[in-house]
This record gives sequence, structure tokens and C-alpha cells, in this order.
Amino acid sequence: MSRRRISILGATGSVGGSTLDLIAHDRDRFEVVALTAHRDVDRLADAARATDARLAVIGDEALLGALRERLAGTDTEAAAGDAAIVAAAGLDADWTMAAIVGSAGLRPVMAAIDAGATVALANKEALVSAGAIMTRAARAAGATLLPVDSEHNAVFQCFDHAAPERVARIVLTASGGPFRTWSAEAMRAATPEQAVKHPNWSMGAKISVDSATMMNKGLELIEAFHLFPVGEERLDIVVHPQSVVHSMVEYVDGSVIAQLGTPDMRTPIAHALAWPDRMKTPCQRLDLARIARLDFEAADTVRFPAIALARAALAAGGARPAVLNAANEEAVAAFLSRRIGFLDIAAIVRDTLDGYDPPAPHRLDEVFAIDREARARARAAMEVLAA
Ligand code: NAD
Ligand code: MG
Repeated sequence: MSRRRISILGATGSVGGSTLDLIAHDRDRFEVVALTAHRDVDRLADAARATDARLAVIGDEALLGALRERLAGTDTEAAAGDAAIVAAAGLDADWTMAAIVGSAGLRPVMAAIDAGATVALANKEALVSAGAIMTRAARAAGATLLPVDSEHNAVFQCFDHAAPERVARIVLTASGGPFRTWSAEAMRAATPEQAVKHPNWSMGAKISVDSATMMNKGLELIEAFHLFPVGEERLDIVVHPQSVVHSMVEYVDGSVIAQLGTPDMRTPIAHALAWPDRMKTPCQRLDLARIARLDFEAADTVRFPAIALARAALAAGGARPAVLNAANEEAVAAFLSRRIGFLDIAAIVRDTLDGYDPPAPHRLDEVFAIDREARARARAAMEVLAA
């Protein structure tokens, strides 16, 4: 078998690191074309050394000298800047991990799609902001989108692609996050440290806060809408605190097919890395007798209004998901730097959606204009709050 040529966008993050870990366990199977990162020169250089990457790109141009220094004596070429990340994404990899966080990943992921590569998609914000444009581009370029998000990877594994009309329902499971049992009053005083302490998964700060507000599940509804053509009304959520059942597909005959596993992102990443083959992973095996029980409960959209906001944005379509996502990214960043409270996140997203309803974007530059404007409005709303 020829070696799969892979690139990792966002190589220094949680998903990027898990991808590198899998490659390290199966070194002969992969050849690394490009690795990118935002500012973490040390981790990027270490990853480039460990994988013999052809190219390493740092987003922050001021760090090019530092990157060159740390790559001295290797064959890895160094580059810097957002345009260099986009160029790296468009190189000749046949498999690209899109693991940049936020809509900052949109241009690079589009470059990988336009190059016709197989794109393993972790960067859900890109799909939320520009889903129709991205999926259209993928069809035009003959690119394959492989879902890496654990729920969507589970659905992908359970889904019979030949026949969406045979699907009655797709049910995404949600852990409920660290505040699943907290009252709204308790959540009001929640700190960033409490919000990023996820009970089951170890993840980057932004998605950890999204899990705490459950906006993550809202974004995932929109993500599922673009990945699986069954329609918004057939997408559901159920809270499942153990994160063992990663999602399920219910067919019209009543059969429900689920994918299970320990909560370790390396399993869905490995599925995408080897697809359509399978590869071994060092992940802990599922031991149901030890887990003993699996619990399920309905999602509470009163304590977690972000779910309802995302559901409404999905139903309305057009630019609503892009506005929702941009406002959420700004609000989460403000919460993480202690400028707003935890409950303010959903309030800011709601305010931004209420005051800004632009027409549906048809091109990428229109998505970026909406993204910028929604962020500016979210920031203005936060200033009012702080005053
Ligand atoms: P992270 O914060 O750990 O890593 C983000 C990566 O993106 C880093 O390599 C960083 O250098 C890079 N980056 C950040 N801002 C950038 C910018 N402006 N330009 C270029 N690069 C930039 O995030 P993560 O937890 O690995 O999540 C990555 C994506 O995967 C997110 O969209 C997240 O929702 C999704 N996801 C993550 C998990 C998980 O377990 N961590 C699970 C499912 C989905
Ligand atoms: Mg997920």
C-alpha cells in the first residue's frame, strides 16, 4: 500500500495532537506534507521534527525567525502568515485534517477542498458559517468530507448513504457538559476554570466552553444538517452523561444503529485517517460490564438556551448560522478572558441575532463580511453589558 500523504491544519491543538499521536503509532503508513499552527512555535517545530514534515507554517508572521531557528538542521521548510497557511492547505496532500478552531479555519479548509483532497473535518465552525458554500465546493472539486467530530463520525459509521429516505431520525448524544446538573443561578457565577473542566473529554478551551453552554450541541445540529441530507426536522439530541454511545441513526423500520466507544477522540480520528480501511489505536477498550449503566435524559433548553438559539438559526437558514457562530466565538473569548459572565454568552448571541439579519451569503467573502459584522455587534453588546 502506498503511504497516505497527509497535512494537519491546527497541528498544535487537541485534535491536531491526537492526530500526530496516531501517526506516531503507525509511522510507515503516513507521509506528512504540511503542519500548521497559530503561535505555538515549539510544539509546531517538535511535530515537524517528529514527522519529517515537508513544510511547517506558523500563522503569526513575527514568529518566522523563531520557527526557522527551531527547524535548523532539518529538511522541513518554514513559512509564516495566514496566506501561507492557506497555500499549505492547497498542497498535494491526499488527506487533510482540518483542526483549526473557529471560522479562522474557513479559508484553509476551503483551499483543501478546492484541491480535491479528502478532508477530515474537525473544524465545525467553518461548516456552520459556510455549510452550503463548503458542501457545494466539495461536490464541484470531487473532495470527500469525513466527519471527525465524535457524534458525526458515529453517524457516518451508522449511516446508509444510499438511502436517506430510509432514515427516520439522527440522534446526536450530548454529555451535558460540566454544568449538566447545575441550576441557572449556580451557572451565573461559573468561572472559566470550571467551564473548561469537561467530565469526559479533554479538549481545547473554546469547544470546552461550548460544551458547558451546550452551544456545542447546537453547532453540531447545524454540522449534521450539512453532512447528512435528512433535513433539519429529523435531527435530534439526547443527553447521555457517560459519552459511550457517540450517536445513533434510527431507520424507518424502527432499527436504531449506534456507534459506541470510550470517549477518546483518537478513535474517530483514526476512523477518518484510515478510511475506508481501519487502523489499530492505543485507545482504551470499551468495558461495558465495568461501566455498568448508560443513562439518557432530554436536553434542557431552558437552562441551556444556546441549543434553542442554534436550532432556530438552523431552521431559518441563510446567514443565521454564520451570525450565531461569530457572536458565540466573540462571547466565548470574552468569557475566557473574564470580561463577561457565563450566562452572558447565550445572551450576547441572542442579542446579536436579534439585531442583525443579513441576506444569505453565496460567496466566501460574503461569509467573512457577515462574520466580521456579527463580531463587531457582539463586542458592542458586551460593552453595554460591562458599562
Ligand atoms: P485547540 O484550541 O486545542 O487547537 C486549535 C488549533 O488551531 C491550534 O493548532 C491553533 O494553533 C490553531 N489556530 C487557532 N487559531 C488559529 C488562527 N487564527 N489561525 C490559524 N490557526 C489557528 O482546539 P481543538 O480542541 O483541537 O479543536 C479544533 C477544532 O476541532 C474545533 O473546531 C473544535 O470544535 C473541533 N473539535 C474538537 C474536539 C476535541 O476533542 N478537542 C472534538 C470535536 C471537534
Ligand atoms: Mg462533538
